[in-house]
Amino acid sequence: MAGRGHEEPWPRPKACRVISVANQKGGVGKTTTTVNIAAALAMHGQRVLVVDLDPQGNASTALGMERDAQTRSIYHCLVEDEEIRKLAQPVPDIPNLWCAPATIDLAGAEIELVSLVAREARLKRAFAAYDTSDLDYILIDCPPSLGLLTVNAMVACDEVMIPIQCEYYALEGLGQLLRNVELVKSHLNTGLSISTILLTMYDGRTRLSQQVADEVRSHFGELVLKTLVPRSVRVSEAPSYAQSVMTYDPASTGAVAYLEAAREIAHRAEGVGAD
Ligand code: ADP
Ligand code: MG
Repeated sequence: MAGRGHEEPWPRPKACRVISVANQKGGVGKTTTTVNIAAALAMHGQRVLVVDLDPQGNASTALGMERDAQTRSIYHCLVEDEEIRKLAQPVPDIPNLWCAPATIDLAGAEIELVSLVAREARLKRAFAAYDTSDLDYILIDCPPSLGLLTVNAMVACDEVMIPIQCEYYALEGLGQLLRNVELVKSHLNTGLSISTILLTMYDGRTRLSQQVADEVRSHFGELVLKTLVPRSVRVSEAPSYAQSVMTYDPASTGAVAYLEAAREIAHRAEGVGAD
């Protein structure tokens, strides 16, 4: 972060902001966004917990979580009422950042949850039992579906952040996602709002990227962060070193963009989101 040493500290939210990073399309940048925004916030003094709610466990991998057959994960929290504080692990090399990892058990949770009481509110219940006064942000990395895991995220959070990939078909399925947010809001979590849209994998050389960005901005207005995340090889390399790009190559275009996006998020007052 050379050159940024004199920067004012980022404002801390009054209460912990719980943000789901959701989009039922796969490969749009949910995990990359979760991991790098979380790392950038933590590197600027915010206390951040990442909850990995995707059975693929990509966020856990990118954050260097050790996992084996004994690892207690977010699965145990949802299905067996394990406390989050018992399974959250500190992220190596990034103070103030923790991760509640996912293990492959989570693939079965979608089905196991069906028969449980208050199946949509398991994660919310786990957060309620956790003292979030020690935290400024919880970021939930959602799986690429609108099933019970994503519903649990939306019931447990205040804000939804939607990464949109600047590619053809980017807007496909978005209507369904928005309807789902509305359904959860009207039946299960009245405080829910879409607060943030982030354009990812932007390629300034193509007209298509520009067209998608324009279209998203005209639809969603100020919900869309000013910062665009460019396509960057360093971003895609970082997870194979069990790192965020913020630590892997902080000077890369991707890291700089994620830092700017995190700064925008931190400076947005809560309640900016649309209803
Ligand atoms: P999702 O969680 O929505 O499935 P990911 O965050 O895993 O999406 O991203 C999908 C793929 O695209 C991954 O291989 C990731 O490394 C890559 N990727 C994400 N963002 C970028 C970017 N800005 N530049 C280059 N590759 C990216
Ligand atoms: Mg993912």
